[in-house]
Amino acid sequence: MDFSLSDDQRLLKDTIRQFMEAEVRPHLRQYEKEGHFPAEEVRKLGELGCCGMTVPEEWGGTGSDTLSYVVMLEEVARVCASTAVTLSVNNSVVGAPLARHGSAEQKQDMLTRLARGEWLGAFCLTEPQAGSDSAAIATHAVRTGDSYRLTGTKSWVTNGGMASVYLVFAKTDPSAGAHGTTAFLVTPDLPGFRVARFEDKMGLNISKTAEIRLEECAVPAANRLGEEGQGLKIALEALDGGRVGIAAQGVGIAQGAFDASVRYAKQRRAFGKTLGEFQAIQWMLADMQTEIEAARMLTYAAACAQDDGKRRGLSPLEARVGPVASRAKLYASEMVNRVVYKAVQIHGSMGYSRETEVERMYRDARVISIYEGTSEIQRTVIARDLLGAAPHGEENL
Ligand SMILES: Cc1cc2nc3c(=O)[nH]c(=O)nc-3n(C[C@H](O)[C@H](O)[C@H](O)COP(=O)(O)OP(=O)(O)OC[C@H]3O[C@@H](n4cnc5c(N)ncnc54)[C@H](O)[C@@H]3O)c2cc1C
Repeated sequence: MDFSLSDDQRLLKDTIRQFMEAEVRPHLRQYEKEGHFPAEEVRKLGELGCCGMTVPEEWGGTGSDTLSYVVMLEEVARVCASTAVTLSVNNSVVGAPLARHGSAEQKQDMLTRLARGEWLGAFCLTEPQAGSDSAAIATHAVRTGDSYRLTGTKSWVTNGGMASVYLVFAKTDPSAGAHGTTAFLVTPDLPGFRVARFEDKMGLNISKTAEIRLEECAVPAANRLGEEGQGLKIALEALDGGRVGIAAQGVGIAQGAFDASVRYAKQRRAFGKTLGEFQAIQWMLADMQTEIEAARMLTYAAACAQDDGKRRGLSPLEARVGPVASRAKLYASEMVNRVVYKAVQIHGSMGYSRETEVERMYRDARVISIYEGTSEIQRTVIARDLLGAAPHGEENL
């Protein structure tokens, strides 16, 4: 496979790097202290097309290939992982399923705004008692006339409280197992919708993560995404796409930590030498760079596999990109944690100080092996595929 970037992809990479260095990096420490969500910066990234890269041009997006999308996320995450997850959720797990399954009205009304960055989207699958086991959600929807009443609690909702549309998964037929879940587009103005609280997190502190309560929330039937019973399929398909984005986020954080470590190793002196003159430090840097490159190649391979499926008119589930995305996500998420560990080590006590970016990156990296499927779930997807079973364990989904 040829992963060399085209002129357009190179231009995109340079543009995003310049933007992140000039407009985001200078404010990060202050934003983290205050827990300030970078709404203005996300809006400007939207103007650059970063909020709708997975969305066709006719619905306000850039209709970019997946490789361009992961290059963008990598560059954003290299400076700010929180901003990267905001964009990743908007693109991969809200914009993409809406583009694939939305009605013309839903696309006109919601997708165009999401794609232009005027609205943010949120993805609401996880519940207090159901994370990895997404079929165990308890939120339910009961149809009454031309609306549904949704009741339940959604936890760990990225962009919660900031979003203008929430893609909510709820049971419409609890007796139908995996086939009893339906997807809904819920706007926060609907009666019965409430942001209950914000999570107090280890990292990603510039990103907002909320618990959402739905109490008999009346959602118009026109806001149902896809057919009744298709919800889990829509969710898992979105996550297959999303995992490539999270892998790119891992590569980006690792690259940022590596760049900072190289700078520090050239400048910090001990025993009359720069740190970079010690073989112990050189070997850490060499291992970091090698692992980052390996993860980047797996991520680009997964992106190219998605594009190949799209060209052949296949959905991510049909193209069986799940295991490829899982391999990229598994390796990148474990890799970034090894890399940030070494980055902190190279920085010594400064690596333990809130004054350095590697300290933030160390905390931000930890979640990469947890969200959008833990490393254990990625291994399960990979193993099921290699043993000839359906990747998500739902043979008829
Ligand atoms: C910062 C952040 C943002 C998030 N954003 C979103 C979001 O926007 N939308 C959303 O819906 N969710 C979101 N999540 C939730 C996230 O996707 C879940 O936390 C994740 O899927 C894991 O679920 P859990 O935390 O309930 O862990 P559990 O499922 O309880 O798992 C706990 C441990 O058991 C292991 N385990 C579970 N089942 C198995 C198994 N079958 N085999 C082996 N090991 C297993 C897991 O790997 C893990 O190590 C977010 C989480 C965080 C931390």
